[in-house]
Amino acid sequence: AVPLVIARSTALAAAKGILIRDRIGFEKAREVTAVVFDKTGTLTKGVFEVTDLVALGSMDPEEALAIAASLEGRSEHPIAQSIVRYAKSRGVKLRPVEDFRAMPGKGVVGRVNGIEAMVVSPGYLKEAGLEVSDGRVDTLVRQGKTVVFLLVNRRPAAAIALSDVIREESREAIATLKKMGIKPIMLTGDNRRVAEWVAKELGIDEFYAEVLPHEKVEVVRQVRSKGHIVAMVGDGVNDAPALIEADVGIAIGAGTDIAIESADIVLVKNDPRDVPVAIELSRKTYRKVV
Ligand code: ADP
Ligand code: MG
Repeated sequence: AVPLVIARSTALAAAKGILIRDRIGFEKAREVTAVVFDKTGTLTKGVFEVTDLVALGSMDPEEALAIAASLEGRSEHPIAQSIVRYAKSRGVKLRPVEDFRAMPGKGVVGRVNGIEAMVVSPGYLKEAGLEVSDGRVDTLVRQGKTVVFLLVNRRPAAAIALSDVIREESREAIATLKKMGIKPIMLTGDNRRVAEWVAKELGIDEFYAEVLPHEKVEVVRQVRSKGHIVAMVGDGVNDAPALIEADVGIAIGAGTDIAIESADIVLVKNDPRDVPVAIELSRKTYRKVV
């Protein structure tokens, strides 16, 4: 039988919008010493807005936007959705795309009007030996913006800058965890400068940037190997293996089904402040039992 105090805590948690999917994970939460947060969609809203489009080489900016948006029309990534929204608001018509393929954590590729086009991360650009040196792009990166690149026939044709918004609640969540003696850590596929800026804004001292989807689980392993009991908080498909690897997996309720199914605890209100609340509840519940 389930001890009364635990049954009561489970009900109390549910009333607060904290869903316990795995009781063992919830019990482990009281021992957590480090919380690894995914950045996009967890600490930030994950709703990007295009702020700038910089044409590179001889590409016409409107043409660049049309090609990029056509490709992104086939992707479900939050960056893709914002580029499409931006293009549509400017009256751009999407064109047919052939041979479309998503490269998780890196970008998208396909043929638009028979021409090979890609929209990719700065990390991919570096990997492909196509680094762009342009003062306008450097300025956008310095402003903490997420920048992606349109490549046409493998040549940089435009840089698109986007900004995401930090959730107001994230600040308090991080401060509370620190007060509880728990180390907050951030993890993201986004570029180092954006990561640095968000971490600084939130008071997070340790972060990992430009992490590819399959490397997220490695980060959790690395933190565990330092002797930490780790909780991982995420929302995306890419986060699922890391949620399973962590001692306690916590999914944001608005996240993907795969993230939710991989988690021990689900935050129904999508509020990062519920991370310390869940840990505190675990501490109280099991303190009374032993
Ligand atoms: P996160 O870890 O922040 O949730 P992802 O792993 O999904 O991010 O993506 C990492 C990076 O890969 C993005 O910041 C972006 O540069 C690039 N990327 C991924 N998908 C796309 C896409 N559809 N269009 C453009 N860039 C993309
Ligand atoms: Mg994410």
